[in-house]
Amino acid sequence: LKNILEVKDLRTSFFTHVGEIKAIRGVSFSLKKGEAIGIVGESGSGKSVTSMSVMKLLQFPGKIVNGEILFRGENLVNTPEKKMQSIRGNEIAMIFQDPMTSLNPVYTIGDQIMESIIKHQKVDKKVAKEKAIEMLKLVGIPSPEERIDQYPHEFSGGMRQRAMIAIALSCEPELLIADEPTTALDVTIQAQILELMKKLKDEINTSIILITHDLGVVADVCSRIIVMYGGLVMEEGTTEEIFYNPKHPYTMGLLKSIPRMDLGENQRLIPIEGTPPDLLNPPKGCPFAARCPYTMKVCETEQPPYFTTETGQRSMCWLLHKDAPKIEVDTGVK
Ligand code: SF4
Ligand code: MG
Repeated sequence: LKNILEVKDLRTSFFTHVGEIKAIRGVSFSLKKGEAIGIVGESGSGKSVTSMSVMKLLQFPGKIVNGEILFRGENLVNTPEKKMQSIRGNEIAMIFQDPMTSLNPVYTIGDQIMESIIKHQKVDKKVAKEKAIEMLKLVGIPSPEERIDQYPHEFSGGMRQRAMIAIALSCEPELLIADEPTTALDVTIQAQILELMKKLKDEINTSIILITHDLGVVADVCSRIIVMYGGLVMEEGTTEEIFYNPKHPYTMGLLKSIPRMDLGENQRLIPIEGTPPDLLNPPKGCPFAARCPYTMKVCETEQPPYFTTETGQRSMCWLLHKDAPKIEVDTGVK
């Protein structure tokens, strides 16, 4: 399995009138062909800025200030916008939380799906229409034969989201970046959409980056999880490692704060107190120090390095230093 995407020491800042907001402060990760990874964290952790950086869709005054984004070996940081435009929506597709930003209001939903199918699957219009109807059915849009001729504004929010997913999937992208794709949808539809993404991954070997604040969402689809906080990767591990053997206090906090299907009633939900760090003046030490229940002196003055296990689970936390005190992990399970 080869890496389809390699992000190396990515740093992205927003140059505002009050100063440089360091939204991404040195993020590295990689993704293999056909693999699905989850990027999880609270809002402001840098997960969306990471995906916008990968897509080269940062809005002014955002700028990539350091690092490499290797997509099939090509560094997207240096790729001209013209070429990026052909990569976006062909090789890399993206689903946003707000579908209105990617649907074109002047074309029917059907035209937008068919355009993508004709371009990528080299079929005629009649077949494309059948496939478009199939896609709409697949994403759970009722009476797709009639809906296909409607415009985005005639769709409800949930319907638009599903239509957008149909468009993104119909170009059979090599990499699909989904940023909170199911957050606005009800639980049943959410499960269907995730099922759909999983199917896509298995059937056409699409690699997926699933970005969400909800750890429960990634468990089913992703084999690996990256936990972000304060513009940095706090922990990375397999889904099993993150859920059952978390080593970073922030991951532990997230696990306790989010309802987990696998635990049912046996769970106490405990929110993480406090707010994320100010990235205009990022903390010198560990970004989580102000909210961590285990903060030590060193945490406030020195950013921890990554401590990596034999299986590749890495955590940026001083507790994993050989001389650190051993903590008792509270998993929130009754
Ligand atoms: Fe908590 Fe220190 Fe670990 Fe940061 S480095 S998560 S403050 S124990
Ligand atoms: Mg976001």
